[in-house]
Amino acid sequence: MQIRDATQVDAAKGVRVTVRAVGISGADVHAWRGDISDQNYPMTLGHEISGVDDTGACVAVNPLIYCGECDACVVGQTNICQNRQVLGSGSVAGGLAGSVDVPRRNLMRVPDHLGFEQASLIDPLARGWHVARLARRAFPKGRTALVIGGGALGFAAALSLRTQGVDNTRLVEENAIRADYLKGKTDMPVTAPSDLPVQDAYDIVIDAVGSVASRALASLRVRAGGIIGHIGLGDVTGGFDMRRLTMNEVTIIGTYAYSALDFEQTAEAVFEGRLGALDWYEARPVTHAAAAFDDLNAGRVASPRVVLTL
Ligand SMILES: [Zn+2]
Repeated sequence: MQIRDATQVDAAKGVRVTVRAVGISGADVHAWRGDISDQNYPMTLGHEISGVDDTGACVAVNPLIYCGECDACVVGQTNICQNRQVLGSGSVAGGLAGSVDVPRRNLMRVPDHLGFEQASLIDPLARGWHVARLARRAFPKGRTALVIGGGALGFAAALSLRTQGVDNTRLVEENAIRADYLKGKTDMPVTAPSDLPVQDAYDIVIDAVGSVASRALASLRVRAGGIIGHIGLGDVTGGFDMRRLTMNEVTIIGTYAYSALDFEQTAEAVFEGRLGALDWYEARPVTHAAAAFDDLNAGRVASPRVVLTL
C-alpha cells in the first residue's frame, strides 16, 4: 500500500465530491490481497464513500456510474448497466483518492443528524437492501431467513429483510469475535455455522460471503421452494449442490450492487431510523489504512465495518 497522487478518470465526470469517509469492504480486502487475477494494478480503492459536494452538503455516493440509456437502465436495473463503471474497482479511482467526480444523480444528500462515517454505510446498506428486495419479490410469503456472513453486507441484508417484513431472520458468522460483537448490536440470533440447529431450513437464504463453504451451507439450509440470494464475491466457483437445488425447486438469484431505486429507498429508511442505529462500525484515520487492511485480512476486526476518515 502506498500513499501517492491518484489520477482521476474523465469518464466519471460530474460533481466533485471531497471525500470524508470511506468504508473498507470485503471486496477491497480481496483486491488489496491480490486475489483478483484479471485486475490491473495499481488501483485506488474505496466505493463506500461519503463527503462534501460542490454546494457544501454532506452526501452519500452511489459509486456505480450508469448510462441511463441501455436495455438494463431503461427498465430500472441501473446496477447491471451494460456501460457501468464503478468507483474503486480499477478502471475509475475510488474514494481513497481524496475526491471523486460523479453525476449528480449518484449523490444522496444526507441530513445533519448523520455524520460522514454513518453516511458511508449507506452503500453497503443499499447492497443488502437490494438483495433483500429481490428475494422478497421472488418469495413474497417468505417468513424465515438465514443470512450467511456478518460483515456489513450480510448485516445490512439481515436488517433490510427485517425492515421489509421478514421477522424471523438469523445471522451466521464464523468469526467468534465478530459474532460476539454482533450479539451486542442486534436482537437477531447470531450463530456459528456449526451451531445451527440441524433440522432448520429457511425460506430465504442470503449468501453474503460467496465461498465454497458458504454456498454449500446455503444449499443445505434453503427449504424446498425457497430462494438463495447470492451477493458474496469470494470464490468464483464451487459449493452449490445443484442436484439438491434442482430436486427442490430452489431459485438462485445472483446480484451485484443496487439500483437507483434501492439507493433512494435505503437512504429514506436510514434517515427515518427504520434500519436501526448505525453504530456497528469503527472509525480509523486514513493514515492508519495499512494496519486496518492487515487487521481485516487477519480476522482481527470485531465490527462489521472499518470506516477510514479523511
Ligand atoms: Zn446503462
